[in-house]
Amino acid sequence: MDVAAERIDRLEELARAAAADGDDERARYYVRLARRIAERNRLSLPRSFRRFTCDSCDAYLRPGANARVRLQDGHVVVTCDCGAHARYPYEE
Ligand SMILES: [Zn+2]
Repeated sequence: MDVAAERIDRLEELARAAAADGDDERARYYVRLARRIAERNRLSLPRSFRRFTCDSCDAYLRPGANARVRLQDGHVVVTCDCGAHARYPYEE
């Protein structure tokens, strides 16, 4: 794994920890930083990162806290507090 990918992993951990602390602004800051590094290095973000971040407002999503998750037609639909929806195929 290269340095950029490691930094992204680290930022995802930091974002998750900040969100768990209820510090959504700090979590958002880490999410944005990770996105920028990915872009600059032409890396794709890890799947876990994409699932737990909002494409619209960059929030780190915590189901039950700042996001709602429901199942619909074999898809997982995640709704962020900002109103953005994301749909993923349901997989175990
Ligand atoms: Zn959002």
